[in-house]
Amino acid sequence: MSQDIPAGLVEALRKAEAVVVLTGSGISADSGVPTFRGAGGLWQGHHPEELATPRAFHRDPAQVWGFYDWRRTLLAGCAPNDGHRALVRLEQLVPEFTLLTQNVDGLHQAAGSRDVVELHGNIWRVRCTGGCRGEHEDRRAPLPPPLPPRCTCKSLLRPAVVWFGEALSRDVFERAEQASLIADVFLAIGTSGAVEPAASLARLARSTGAIVAEINPDGSLLSAMARYIVNDTAARALPRLVAALESPA
Ligand code: NAD
Repeated sequence: MSQDIPAGLVEALRKAEAVVVLTGSGISADSGVPTFRGAGGLWQGHHPEELATPRAFHRDPAQVWGFYDWRRTLLAGCAPNDGHRALVRLEQLVPEFTLLTQNVDGLHQAAGSRDVVELHGNIWRVRCTGGCRGEHEDRRAPLPPPLPPRCTCKSLLRPAVVWFGEALSRDVFERAEQASLIADVFLAIGTSGAVEPAASLARLARSTGAIVAEINPDGSLLSAMARYIVNDTAARALPRLVAALESPA
């Protein structure tokens, strides 16, 4: 057994019919992507939570796009880490596996995860805020000036992400809820549990009997409901968890 991976967690994963993983920005921290909370979470003196809002976009779309252009440019130089890759393997080891992510960076897909439920959208997609409502992928980083970018219909484009204060896509959230309701194990990785309704999915799973587990170097708002906690980074802990699962019982 890998040191410090709880044997009970490995056992629960071995027995599980359905496993749900919820990732947050912490899993991408080892790829060099800053988290919102914690050290390095500021951009030009602003808290991201102040810029990732419909109100901020309405007030100053160029500033909000400056923030997103900076994030996209930073992300363009980032690659998936061992944590993302271990989840690709975990998917192959359990009968039913659902990967829910609050991340918008696309790094799970870059690692090889094929079916990722993106609760908060994707930073590489843009959506028209005007009449045409068109949405498409745009991976240019940095974007050619001037910011903010405009649609072919001349309206402003916005990042196709869910901002603070906005509702999640109903279809996407329903899928996340369905998976959480039937989960035997719900594994929260690198999330502070501070953003709703994503965090409510852990409570939902717990309420129907799932074993909740957490991988996070620090405590989170989800720690209190977790039966198993691994206090380590995702890139270190997840390969050990998968190795333990693959080793003979
Ligand atoms: P958060 O910023 O609130 O919390 C990050 C969590 O990750 C903390 O609990 C921290 O202890 C933990 N953490 C830090 N380093 C870690 C590591 N190496 N391994 C594992 N855990 C680590 O993040 P959140 O809970 O995802 O909520 C923030 C919101 O911001 C989300 O809605 C998300 O969409 C967005 N966001 C996304 C990205 C991204 O796509 N990469 C980056 C920043 C923020």
